Amino acid sequence: MAPRRRSDLPAKVCPVCGRPFHWRHKWARDWDQVRYCSERCRRGARAAAVAGVAAAATDPPAPSGRSAHRRPRP
Ligand SMILES: [Zn+2]
Repeated sequence: MAPRRRSDLPAKVCPVCGRPFHWRHKWARDWDQVRYCSERCRRGARAAAVAGVAAAATDPPAPSGRSAHRRPRP
């Protein structure tokens, strides 16, 4: 296998989707804290961690206040 040279960007492996991702400019400040490749995976990791516990956080859908408004005939 030939060694890759992608401008020597640091890379990490996302623990959620298991895919490697490279350094991005928006992570320039907190690259050390970046663990997931995307916001989605970040939320996914959180959801997975809480999934077993938060079963009571589901609110029933509010009834749609559809007013049957009739126009009175003259
Ligand atoms: Zn990911």
